[in-house]
Amino acid sequence: MNVHEYQAKAVLKEYGVPVPRGFPAFSVEDAVRVAQELGGPVWVVKAQIHAGGRGKGGGVKVVKSLEAVREEAERMLGMTLVTHQTGPKGRVVRRLYIEEGAAIARELYLSLLVDRETSRVAVVASTEGGMDIEQVAHSTPDKIITFSIDPATGVFPHHGRHLVEALRLEGAAAKQAFGLLKALHAAFVEKDMALLEINPLIVTGAGDLKVLDAKVSFDDNALFRHPDIKALRDESEEDPKEIEASKYDLSYIALDGEIGCMVNGAGLAMAT
Ligand code: GDP
Ligand code: MN
Repeated sequence: MNVHEYQAKAVLKEYGVPVPRGFPAFSVEDAVRVAQELGGPVWVVKAQIHAGGRGKGGGVKVVKSLEAVREEAERMLGMTLVTHQTGPKGRVVRRLYIEEGAAIARELYLSLLVDRETSRVAVVASTEGGMDIEQVAHSTPDKIITFSIDPATGVFPHHGRHLVEALRLEGAAAKQAFGLLKALHAAFVEKDMALLEINPLIVTGAGDLKVLDAKVSFDDNALFRHPDIKALRDESEEDPKEIEASKYDLSYIALDGEIGCMVNGAGLAMAT
């Protein structure tokens, strides 16, 4: 199950992960009100859809006045946002996230995922944050560094040092890397995440690490033990046919046109 960026950040914040202050907004008035509460002088208006690449599609705007927050909120709410992850039909924007603006010194990439080959949580890090990681993997694979964490022993200081090296961190950011990795790993394991992708993780102007974007998907098979996570589901982001099938615990994958696959597992369905 996928969640919105603002929901993912709220979960990470519970674990002490540094995220910018922000509030979701469901209307233009909401957006202006929470922007006022945040205080400025710089805000970021972010469209909330279950897909990345929003920045390039006009779904992320850095603004410097409440008037501009209003204008961007008016423009984004109800718009169909097309990104390289939404497909040509795009997604209708129904929610916004209003955040305090961050000064960016460097944009990095960091993700945690389940690596089936090693049966471990893998950490993927790159200095090339803020861009399409598939593109980085294709053109400069040596700029992506991967290591895994033993589930029996968890995160060790040497993992932190590995991360410092991979991301070429210095000063305060280097000191914060181990704590950040520990917090992310704890959230990943305890909440049964399948993917936790931070792109970008930034070094701020003041030299600190901060999570600027977060994409999280949770393991559907573990949702029964996380009612708090299950409550974050946004059915308007899912295929109505898949929602109907999930009510009966059917593994159903909708495909283009008039066909779909229903087998005894989604992976087998796709292979079929
Ligand atoms: P995505 O395009 O859907 O992945 O959305 P992101 O949240 O990653 O935002 C895209 C880009 O907008 C980031 O890589 C940053 O360059 C920029 N951005 C987002 N938030 C801020 C901010 O607070 N300050 C500044 N200066 N840029 C930001
Ligand atoms: Mn991003």
